[in-house]
Amino acid sequence: MSGKIHVPSEREVVVIGGGPAGLAAAIAAKEAGCDDVLLIERDRILGGILNQCIHDGFGLHRFKEALSGPEYAQRFIGRLEELRIPVMRNSIVLNMSRDRELLVSRMGELTRIQAKAVILAMGCRERARGAISIPGHRSSGIYTAGAAQTLVNLENIMPGKHVCFLGSGDIGLIMARRMVLEGAKVEAVFGQSPWPSGLPRNVQQCLVDYGIPLYLNTTIVRIVGMGRLEGVEVATTENRRPIKGTERFVPCDTLLLSLGLIPENELAREAGISLHSITGGPVADDRCMTEIPGIFSCGNALHVHDLVDWVSEEAERAGRGAAKYVSGMADGAGVIKVRPGNGVRYVMPDRFTMPLNVVSDEAVISFRVNTPTKDGKVRILLRDPSGGSDILKEEKHSRLHPSEMTRVVLSTEHTSRLKAGDVLEVEKE
Ligand SMILES: Cc1cc2nc3c(=O)[nH]c(=O)nc-3n(C[C@H](O)[C@H](O)[C@H](O)COP(=O)(O)OP(=O)(O)OC[C@H]3O[C@@H](n4cnc5c(N)ncnc54)[C@H](O)[C@@H]3O)c2cc1C
Repeated sequence: MSGKIHVPSEREVVVIGGGPAGLAAAIAAKEAGCDDVLLIERDRILGGILNQCIHDGFGLHRFKEALSGPEYAQRFIGRLEELRIPVMRNSIVLNMSRDRELLVSRMGELTRIQAKAVILAMGCRERARGAISIPGHRSSGIYTAGAAQTLVNLENIMPGKHVCFLGSGDIGLIMARRMVLEGAKVEAVFGQSPWPSGLPRNVQQCLVDYGIPLYLNTTIVRIVGMGRLEGVEVATTENRRPIKGTERFVPCDTLLLSLGLIPENELAREAGISLHSITGGPVADDRCMTEIPGIFSCGNALHVHDLVDWVSEEAERAGRGAAKYVSGMADGAGVIKVRPGNGVRYVMPDRFTMPLNVVSDEAVISFRVNTPTKDGKVRILLRDPSGGSDILKEEKHSRLHPSEMTRVVLSTEHTSRLKAGDVLEVEKE
């Protein structure tokens, strides 16, 4: 690195990350009237995680089509090019200050950019073996499912022939099917929780349809193999703890881990943005603005999504929010707080900033439930200071599952009843 640091250049809206969230945010900011939008991506190509997702199933809600990941990304890349939004590729944002000065490294050169608004869209990373400390040998042949997906789909390299999976998240389920299609034998998928962590549709299409067994309430208690992995010892669990005497050995040469995703938020943390204790992303309002004015967050950097359609929708709100912010539109006074109630793990956003409907005609509340429920009800309650409540909206859902993000859309008919200072609570019955 030459160490040369340029004088900060000034930009209106800078988007960090060129995955589906960053692409949609940049497009929306430009379409909302901001002429100076810059997208920064550390990779040489745009599209983020979608580039390695060569299976279909993307865009069912947005385009009513089952696209592959690259096809979905291309629709946004095409629009970005039409709008002539400049992109800095091979450029990584190393640091961001509270007042939105960015330090960017590109091809051995450091550049400073002073932005009026920043949109954080850096995606997420996978939990690796260190996150769960499985005892045993430090064998080769252990990868995260996403790393294996990069090897198989982008590098044409098979990580192994005889495979076990730990964790039943979506990437693991998709990779279990992929490994079978590429000629490997998939012994089983082991999941510690009583229900799969991935979407029900992925359990059906990736495991059931391919005859791959899924063992729930089961974990790996020992890794065996001095050089290459020789197998794993698994045990049944109760309340996520292994039950003594239930151990059995399963031979395999490869273990793929699908242990969950963590929003990528080093930049947010360094800037002093507080992170949500459950999602790991910034606390944000309905415009995706964090607690620091002018810094927005969306996509998997904000909270882990299961469907890219909702990533794009949320990112568009962030883009429009950033464009409004730099245009100097003053917010009215006050907020409406949103909080999780009975049976709900977290809600997004945590507040609506007044006036409502600045970035969208609809007010969307996204949340995850704690436990699976069939034929359940979701209620948005309007709490009053005396502890009472009024039902603002109630919906029946044939299936509510922790692996699926649930959304409730409040139309103007509902939001016209709200005023600054109100508190909304989301509950499941
Ligand atoms: C294996 C897998 C399978 C999936 N399958 C489906 C499916 O079938 N259907 C569906 O709808 N959804 C699916 N999803 C979900 C969907 O792909 C993701 O929700 C979506 O890609 C998230 O978009 P994002 O832009 O937030 O993050 P990403 O796609 O991860 O993009 C983040 C971008 O930010 C860049 N970046 C990070 N840090 C920096 C930095 N400091 N400086 C510059 N650039 C940076 C990264 O290089 C990356 O390009 C799947 C996800 C995975 C992982």
